[in-house]
Amino acid sequence: MNEANTDDGIDVLVLGAGMAGLTAARALAERGVRVTVLEARDRVGGRVFSEKTIEGVTIEHGAEFVHGKPPELWALLHECGVTVSERDGSMLREDWSGGLGEDEDQGDAFTALSKLEHWDKADISFAEWLEQSDVPEEDRQALIGYVEGFNAADAKRIGVKALGVQQAAEDAIEGDRAWHVHGGYSQLAEYLADRVKELRGEVKLGERVVSVRWAAGSVEVRTNSRTFRAAKCVVTLPLSVLQCTDAEARVSFTPEPEALGHAKRLAMGQVVRFTLVFGERWWERSKAISKKALGDMSFLFTPQRMPPVWWTRHPEPEEAATLVGWVGGTRMSELIGKSAEELGAAACAALAEVFRIDEAVVRNSLFATYTHDWARDPFSRGAYSYVPAGALDAPAAMCVPEADTIFFAGEHTETSGHWGTVHAAIGSGLRVARQILGEI
Ligand SMILES: Cc1cc2nc3c(=O)[nH]c(=O)nc-3n(C[C@H](O)[C@H](O)[C@H](O)COP(=O)(O)OP(=O)(O)OC[C@H]3O[C@@H](n4cnc5c(N)ncnc54)[C@H](O)[C@@H]3O)c2cc1C
Repeated sequence: MNEANTDDGIDVLVLGAGMAGLTAARALAERGVRVTVLEARDRVGGRVFSEKTIEGVTIEHGAEFVHGKPPELWALLHECGVTVSERDGSMLREDWSGGLGEDEDQGDAFTALSKLEHWDKADISFAEWLEQSDVPEEDRQALIGYVEGFNAADAKRIGVKALGVQQAAEDAIEGDRAWHVHGGYSQLAEYLADRVKELRGEVKLGERVVSVRWAAGSVEVRTNSRTFRAAKCVVTLPLSVLQCTDAEARVSFTPEPEALGHAKRLAMGQVVRFTLVFGERWWERSKAISKKALGDMSFLFTPQRMPPVWWTRHPEPEEAATLVGWVGGTRMSELIGKSAEELGAAACAALAEVFRIDEAVVRNSLFATYTHDWARDPFSRGAYSYVPAGALDAPAAMCVPEADTIFFAGEHTETSGHWGTVHAAIGSGLRVARQILGEI
């Protein structure tokens, strides 16, 4: 890489201190590149956001699971020395008549999804594909619920080609297995930020990027506080921040890189997620299902309720009993904008019905409800990206550097099918560092 010789003594400016930005900054700093990371928030991690509550429980507001065995993420987990627990235990499902049972194998319904790996016709939305498929009527709702919930997507927009690529990518890394990081996912981001600083890079918090002006070989980034100059710039701002058109909130680029045109073709998914912290595992008192199933409960599916997905931390020991509620995709609109208290009250009523337990028992056990509104967070404007029909080439197109000066990274620039994950963000950070170092 050429020396920058900018007056700020910065070779590369990295916009955003999420997992993509910090990974890129660390990889560059390790090779002697002078990096400065500019982050709008007062913390690192972005959509990796762990909080220690007053009850002494570390909860996740953003990423929680290590999905499968992606090598770049596991290398970091080992390097950091954090402990992880694999999620297992019973999966419970409330049926349409209100009965609670152990989740039956959804194998048949989900084999339909694996068919998408071989889809070689024109890209269409998942909803269109389902309409013309031979998937039995009774399985369709479950499939839509799964695709929308997992991808935070709208079934009428998400493309079957991307779903097929994603399915194959997950198969390759045992994506059906999930682990939880003890003590919080944020430890990974903090670890990376510390390494960047040790390597004489800078991580500047509270620096909200307002504009980027650039020409080949030089970049000028204006923030709320000052102007930074460098030879190159890595942009890891979330997809919907790049898509934002609101004159007050947008980050302007002059000239506009081609990558922004491709960013507009992708979509940002939405999620409502909240954590209930209880004084006891009251659900173990339920008579609705066996003691063993209740004691081992890992996931609970209540498709006809809001939210439709819940999970515990089983088998991990925890400081207090917690239940997470989750809804992704179009159904989240029913819960969006509700306060933590409103979410907690509605959840207690729903859970009491599911487990056939006096609502007062559930309510009295609730210490607090925690949530983060990612949709209204100006620095995320949504949860994570997905690829609409017809846009499968867009993430790769975003990875093409502009005049060897402006580079894009972030989970939305993933090209192998792991969109919307921590490992996609890490992978993109490593990729962009190699591009800058001239290795690819
Ligand atoms: C509720 C939720 C649950 C999730 N669950 C999982 C999970 O279980 N497993 C998993 O693998 N993934 C999960 N994800 C996805 C995962 O968190 C993301 O894919 C990943 O963290 C994205 O990293 P990133 O670096 O690309 O983006 P970000 O983490 O968003 O980093 C971008 C950074 O840019 C900063 N920024 C934005 N605007 C500006 C500006 N104007 N100036 C300066 N800085 C700015 C942001 O503050 C942020 O720090 C979840 C996400 C959410 C929201």
